[in-house]
Amino acid sequence: MNARHARYPFFAAAREAVGESDVELGELVTTDDPAVSRGLERVERALMAGTVESETPGEWSTRDELLSYPVARILVSLIDAPAAVRKYAHAEATTAYERFTEDFVADDDGLKSTGTTTVELDDFLVEFGLTDDVRPEDGAQATSARTRKTDAYRVALGTYLTLSTPDWGENWRLVNREVADGEVRIVREELYELLREAVRRRVAEGLPFVVGDDAIAEALDAEIDSLRGLLADRKPVGRIDTVVPELFPPCMKHLLERAGRGAELDHHSRFALTAFLTGIGMDTDEIVAVYRETALDEEEIRYQTEYLRDDAGTQYAPPSCATMAAYDDCVNRDERCETITHPMAYYARALDDDGESGARGTNTAD
Ligand code: SF4
Repeated sequence: MNARHARYPFFAAAREAVGESDVELGELVTTDDPAVSRGLERVERALMAGTVESETPGEWSTRDELLSYPVARILVSLIDAPAAVRKYAHAEATTAYERFTEDFVADDDGLKSTGTTTVELDDFLVEFGLTDDVRPEDGAQATSARTRKTDAYRVALGTYLTLSTPDWGENWRLVNREVADGEVRIVREELYELLREAVRRRVAEGLPFVVGDDAIAEALDAEIDSLRGLLADRKPVGRIDTVVPELFPPCMKHLLERAGRGAELDHHSRFALTAFLTGIGMDTDEIVAVYRETALDEEEIRYQTEYLRDDAGTQYAPPSCATMAAYDDCVNRDERCETITHPMAYYARALDDDGESGARGTNTAD
């Protein structure tokens, strides 16, 4: 097991490294190995932040990081929901994209690490069987140096059609592309998009699978419950377009107060607060401003906010009171809390009681 395997755990060599090790996944899971905690984080981050990058990378060894991948696949399989597979594969591909573009740039700049951590573009082409389907624009067969120094490529039509979709935008439609001799012209950034899609497909392949070992499923019961809770909480809710901070539920006031003084919020808390603020009609810039004092990554907050709001303007609900309580985020309960089961319902009721308008249409159960 080496650092490159941990960085690109979906590579065949990484899979082989796990297979050749004496690690028993069943034993790993039943003995609470750190790889299981990292695997859980991997899936939680995928569902809530669109990335599988750890929030505490220094905490995990190369072994934990690599083994967390098969553990995450088991968890996603046990959740057994199409949305979990979709979001997980998307997050693995997004993380891989960030890593390989960083590696390719370092390679171009001559900053490539001398160890076995990073990859070159050619490694990716070989890994996905694309060496014969992608060549530099000048017509020569791709060689290592020429491939990475070139800004435009010709990709075999079949590969282009397999890996891209017109949903990516007008620019990807074949009618808008330069096609000649069964090849499509693409620029370097577009090649990277195709590679991201190749990763997404490989990760999604075979998921969910049947976890035949009952002991594994039993040992992961609590983790699966918590992950299913994250997904179940994402029911569409109506939008509340009224922002009255003094009427926020106590839990959200508490999280806001902590964010305001720069306290580190863990990802459950951050997701809950972001979903709540999105649900009451705050836009992305306003939400980013809420977190300004914290050390949180702005891009991640933007991703999460946009993820919570789909194209049709639908909002996704923050966690229910039960989930908030499970994560110790239900604090300072008051009398109104006794009458509801959801922070959005609390707020809608508070606005009603206060005579505020605009808070209508929540369909969160209360
Ligand atoms: S009961 Fe619900 S609304 Fe009230 S503080 Fe707890 S999580 Fe928030």
